[in-house]
Amino acid sequence: MIPLAAGATQSLSLVREVLSRIVGAPDFVATLAGARREKKLRLRIVVVRDGDGRPVASVKEVEAALGESLRVLEREAQTRVVPADGSLVALMEGPAPPEALDAPCSTNGLWRTDLGLGGRWFRANRFRAGYRFLGRGAPLTVFVVHDVVGKCGCSLGPFGDYITIDADGLAGGTKRILAHEIGHSCGLPHAKGQDNLMRPRGPGERMTRLQRAVFRSSRHVTYL
Ligand SMILES: [Zn+2]
Repeated sequence: MIPLAAGATQSLSLVREVLSRIVGAPDFVATLAGARREKKLRLRIVVVRDGDGRPVASVKEVEAALGESLRVLEREAQTRVVPADGSLVALMEGPAPPEALDAPCSTNGLWRTDLGLGGRWFRANRFRAGYRFLGRGAPLTVFVVHDVVGKCGCSLGPFGDYITIDADGLAGGTKRILAHEIGHSCGLPHAKGQDNLMRPRGPGERMTRLQRAVFRSSRHVTYL
């Protein structure tokens, strides 16, 4: 029953994404032509708790690690990240199930997670903001989990509106990870360029003009 419901959610996301891309086409063209007016992306970052109720990271740690990713999106896509509601980072109240604490992301791991108990928990606990036409302006929720198995961050691309990231993804030389995962959620696939934000590994932070146009015409990125 869970895979069926999750599959329906993913299919609905795809339909919404396609229709929303048609609505967003003028913005895609405008960005390709050089438009740089600031847009917004609503985000909620939720730090999950383990089975003993301990948060996997502190709000301070998460906030400190965020800055670089937020600067990358402002600089490369003229997109300002704003809190979906109240503060940007919040602690989850109750403990998360093991499937959500250690969520696999090898090849299509998150897809499997999304079809199982972990995904059900993520979907139930993501931030939802009333009805939005074709999901335009819909917020993204980032879950800071114990371990994104096989990677340090994971996104379902346009098929979901949540992202998972772990402590490794927030620390050290990989501070762009959040911007990279948000890129996936806003329609960007991996890219090869040495300094590109969508290169799977490395410190790259740049976006090409085409990537900027795809990103800025995503349903998650709006003027208002
Ligand atoms: Zn990636």
